[in-house]
Amino acid sequence: MENKYRKWFGEKRGWKALEAFEEKGWKTYYAETLEAARETLLNTCLPKNVSVGLGGSETLGALDILPVLRSADYRLFDRYNCADHFEVCRESLAADYFITGANALTVSGEMVNLDCSGSRVAAMAYGPRKIIVVVGINKLVNTLEDAIARVHAIAPMNCKRNNHRTPCVENGVCTDCNMPARMCNHLLITFNAKKFEGKYTLILINEDLGF
Ligand code: SF4
Repeated sequence: MENKYRKWFGEKRGWKALEAFEEKGWKTYYAETLEAARETLLNTCLPKNVSVGLGGSETLGALDILPVLRSADYRLFDRYNCADHFEVCRESLAADYFITGANALTVSGEMVNLDCSGSRVAAMAYGPRKIIVVVGINKLVNTLEDAIARVHAIAPMNCKRNNHRTPCVENGVCTDCNMPARMCNHLLITFNAKKFEGKYTLILINEDLGF
């Protein structure tokens, strides 16, 4: 059952965080629900007739946008239906739009992501003309240190989700492994988005999404 105090707290913290992101050059949107976020993404943020790349994300899965992006209205670099995943991720680096979730945001306007191959953080740092980040309120933390701790803490769940054969999948505990299947290889901190004004958009949803 929805907890009205958590919703209230999420709204207050969410708006405060969005102010900070705006201050750092992001275009931001607050969405009370997943449905509202989907509406904002498809009807306000993403124009038709553009190429689109995707970051792997539970939140994007919950938004159920794949059927729309696979329509004739978009040219999707479809990482979920392709013969060569590596090539599709390379092509996504030159997409008009890159849509992705994120691992952690801070209330002072920083974003932190931890990647396996680096394809997602590469796109988030440079390449696509526009980046749209869609993220649940559970990813919001107070400090940069908290954000970095968060991305490491959730890494075993990411391994489990992606069927990686790492020690953490056996017992949920990170051993800082040293093997090809390791997920935790590239850490990206996005401190500021003013370099290319209008490039970064954040849709913050007042719901717990992903992990
Ligand atoms: S470093 Fe290895 S063991 Fe630790 S969370 Fe990442 S993949 Fe799992």
